[in-house]
Amino acid sequence: MSFTPIKTPWIAKKLFPNYIWDISTTEKVIYLTFDDGPTPKITNWTLDILKQHNAKATFFCIGNNIEKHPEIFQGILKDGHAIGNHTQNHIRGWKTKAKDYLNNIGEAQETINFQIPQSKFQDFKITNLFRPPYGQITPKQGRKLINLGYKIVMWDVLSFDWDHTIEKENCLENVLAKTSKGSIIVFHDSVKASKNMQYALPKVLAHFSEKGYCFKALNSTV
Ligand SMILES: [Zn+2]
Repeated sequence: MSFTPIKTPWIAKKLFPNYIWDISTTEKVIYLTFDDGPTPKITNWTLDILKQHNAKATFFCIGNNIEKHPEIFQGILKDGHAIGNHTQNHIRGWKTKAKDYLNNIGEAQETINFQIPQSKFQDFKITNLFRPPYGQITPKQGRKLINLGYKIVMWDVLSFDWDHTIEKENCLENVLAKTSKGSIIVFHDSVKASKNMQYALPKVLAHFSEKGYCFKALNSTV
């Protein structure tokens, strides 16, 4: 088990109020996010299941993976989901100097922008969403990114889909129990997380759809 809690405690949100932890709303809206793609097969599977539930989401992509799989990245855009920056090489903020960290994020941003035709810039609402890999970001790095115009998106509910010590049923239960209006939920469209994610995601979508929730991309809100 990890020390990281499933539900982000209020103290963390208070300590870092400039980061986005959830969306304050009285409406039945959930913000699904998927980190670490694009990944062959798994990202496409995710796009299919989202489409079946008329759900929009936000994909925090690794620049290097976009370069390897541009056609999958295009599929995410085509389906109208939001894109976020998750660094070029999935680096750890706490082990990286602020200058190098920002350069790596800048590289990922260029990779993202390169994939989007200029004529489509308006349509796709190019956003400046950033999520730090492993949730690791120093206050200095955070300040600099916010000054550059990035919005730093953390989360409200961690699915722990990547954690092989967690049974897939528990992964699902965690998300069902901790999610509320305006929650930002973290899943991964990665090989490592696929077993738990592919079990939990369809059930999360069905469960909350039945309760009258809808699923939105973050670019329309933050
Ligand atoms: Zn990641």
